[in-house]
Amino acid sequence: MTAVGLEFDQLKSSADALRRSVSNRLMYGVGKDAVTARPQDWLHAAALAVRDRLVERWMVTTRRQYDQDAKRVYYLSMEFLIGRTFSNALLALGIHDAMKEALASLGVDMDALIDLEPDAALGNGGLGRLAACFLDSMATLGIPGFGYGIRYDYGMFRQQIVNGEQVEEPDYWLRSGNPWEFPRPEVQYPVHFGGRTVQRNGTVEWIETHTVNAMAYDTIIPGYATSATNTLRLWSARACEELDLSAFNQGDYQRAVEARNLSENVSRLLYPDDSTMAGRELRLRQEYFFVSATMQDLIRRYLRTHSTFGRFSDKVAVHLNDTHPVLAIPELIRLLVDVHHMPWDEAMGHIKRVFSYTNHTLMPEALETWDVELLSRLLPRHLEIIFDINAAFLREASESKEKGVHDLDFIRRISLVDEYGQRRVRMAYLAIVASHTVNGVSKLHSQLMTRHIFADFARLFPERFTNVTNGITPRRWLAQASPPLARLVDETIGTQWRKDLFELGALRKVAGDAAFEEAFRAAKRENKVRLIQRMTARTGLAFNPDALFDMQVKRMHEYKRQLLNVLHVITRYNRIVQAPERDWVPRVVLFAGKAASAYRMAKTIIRLINDVAEKVNHDPVVGDRLKVVFVPNYGVSVAEVVIPAADLSEQISTAGTEASGTGNMKLALNGALTMGTLDGANIEIGEAVGADNIFIFGNTADQVDALRGAGYRPRQIYEENAGLRMALDQIRRGFFAPDDPARYQEIFHTLVDWGDHYMVLADYAAFVQAQEAADRRFVDVRSWTASAIENVAGMGMFSSDRAIAEYAREIWHTKPVDTGR
Ligand SMILES: *Cc1c(COP(=O)(O)O)cnc(C)c1O
Repeated sequence: MTAVGLEFDQLKSSADALRRSVSNRLMYGVGKDAVTARPQDWLHAAALAVRDRLVERWMVTTRRQYDQDAKRVYYLSMEFLIGRTFSNALLALGIHDAMKEALASLGVDMDALIDLEPDAALGNGGLGRLAACFLDSMATLGIPGFGYGIRYDYGMFRQQIVNGEQVEEPDYWLRSGNPWEFPRPEVQYPVHFGGRTVQRNGTVEWIETHTVNAMAYDTIIPGYATSATNTLRLWSARACEELDLSAFNQGDYQRAVEARNLSENVSRLLYPDDSTMAGRELRLRQEYFFVSATMQDLIRRYLRTHSTFGRFSDKVAVHLNDTHPVLAIPELIRLLVDVHHMPWDEAMGHIKRVFSYTNHTLMPEALETWDVELLSRLLPRHLEIIFDINAAFLREASESKEKGVHDLDFIRRISLVDEYGQRRVRMAYLAIVASHTVNGVSKLHSQLMTRHIFADFARLFPERFTNVTNGITPRRWLAQASPPLARLVDETIGTQWRKDLFELGALRKVAGDAAFEEAFRAAKRENKVRLIQRMTARTGLAFNPDALFDMQVKRMHEYKRQLLNVLHVITRYNRIVQAPERDWVPRVVLFAGKAASAYRMAKTIIRLINDVAEKVNHDPVVGDRLKVVFVPNYGVSVAEVVIPAADLSEQISTAGTEASGTGNMKLALNGALTMGTLDGANIEIGEAVGADNIFIFGNTADQVDALRGAGYRPRQIYEENAGLRMALDQIRRGFFAPDDPARYQEIFHTLVDWGDHYMVLADYAAFVQAQEAADRRFVDVRSWTASAIENVAGMGMFSSDRAIAEYAREIWHTKPVDTGR
């Protein structure tokens, strides 16, 4: 094909140029004029005008990646929790103010448009948000990378609170169209299910399958202040035949359509994050669907510029974000061996140089396993491949006697197939055996990973395990979320922190400067007022912007211990009622988070929070000494409004259960002090900001283990602590649920009588004490401000740029591509 000189506009970024682009896009793209355009149409037109500018960069980057034959990183994740794109893209392109001016000149208020954009909520929580932050950093650093996942029709459900209870609504985020994506109907791959395998001329064929097509949708991921971009490619299911023709011919239209719908269900909806996933066939289908399409796509891309597979593992790195994409391993082997006729050993050689895997949880019940029977029915060829990998691995392991690992029990423990009871494939073990590197996501987590869940593998392959502490993108979580603080930081140390977060360390030079402290407090207050406006609009309650804003915002889960926080709130309430005249430090305690739809206990905890809020907020004795709010529908856009308003960040998981946390980093970056256990990245946050600038309390991971070993007795703690007993008795007797006094008995019994698995009661006293210490600090305004500034200044290492640079250097062995600009 000869290159043809395209004539295009080379779009400029002035307000005039943007005004013209938006007008053009409204006319020619949306098909409206200024008279008929609704706000939604203006947003669409403005988004297209921004996208046009991204496309120019995208073409250049993609061309350069090809020309330089760059090694590409394929980041495979079931979830990408992107949030909104419009303002993020404006920021990346540096055209925020120009666009605002352009729209204003057209009579349109840009800030109102921004709130119309639906979140791309293709994820549950931290894991999906991490993937989104990583895409941002890969693009910003110029690492040639692709995100690969599923284009769910329905993302994370929308949460409403009705009479104190969570009510879930489907999130049909594509309702008004998605201006950011490019549908690629020409990029489709068949994905097979079912059938059986046969040997023919020395190769295995997988036949009599049912087939679904995966169709690509591309979204441009802009790097910040660079011409480099990357691509997020999401797969959507398409039925192979439009309609079941034989049914159609027989006039059975319903059946003709049903078959099609059944196929396309594969990308219909995001699975909620709960532990009862096992055995859900549709989830297994989703996992295979997206990795199969992805492996076919990366092979096709590789073969476009290479005639043999000789350099495959020099040019391709595949990263598995948790075990959800682990079927990529047997799928790549199948494609190389069965389809491209590569010898098995050679294929295995590539595999072990290509794959790396991040573990995200230590909780055994959250490690994925799949029933052998289900796999043999749905993916018979892959099961054979897994058995072959396992046989070779166990042979090797039992021969490595010098490592002292040869007894039968050991072999049974490390087998990829769990033979106890119903046979299941352990996906994490498959990931470890086939990857060159396995990482945890904080120092503590990586240590515990090799000491507990993967101890046997760490003995076999000590060099395979490493740590990369998580990070967050400062573009979204400071520059975009907190304009007042970002502006102040710019004025004080310049703007480079957006690309090098260690620059924030320079804030230490102005720590102690009264004028700077004053400005810092003013920025925080402005963010609080912004949040209060929204909370008052919704609840009708008044909030004091000078109160201590205390926040626990994250998914509802027993291990994260929202219950511990509630117990403190109840205790504080009781104390206020007993002695209202004491000089209480006013507090607003804010909760936000969704509960997985099938997780009953988490939903009950939401209801308890709302019932407690109802009682506390309407008790005239309490006034503004204490307010409790549950902000509904926690997601990226809600987080961007609440986090910048926080003074205190609750990170209170049972030590040893939170792999890293990233909410903790976002809050500290916004100048909140952490109230935390020695868990996950809290430990590293404490090292970075100094022990005086963080509130650490409670049992350590080792103490939690020791306590469990010694026989933990929560009832004894309940009986011996009067404040705790009062709070728990109120919960048991229905003090917060007069209309249904038995509502919270299960919570009481879980904590007092049924073992208190997450050791809430064991940390209660220390937690209440630490909260008192926080009160005392908060009234010393200058000291608190100094600590808050230390927190911001210490966040350099928690940039996702630092994390991605480590992955690129230590794990993927990739370099930034030269974009020539
Ligand atoms: C950062 C983030 C999370 C993760 O929060 P943790 O406190 O680390 O659990 C979850 N959801 C959203 C929307 C986030 O932005």
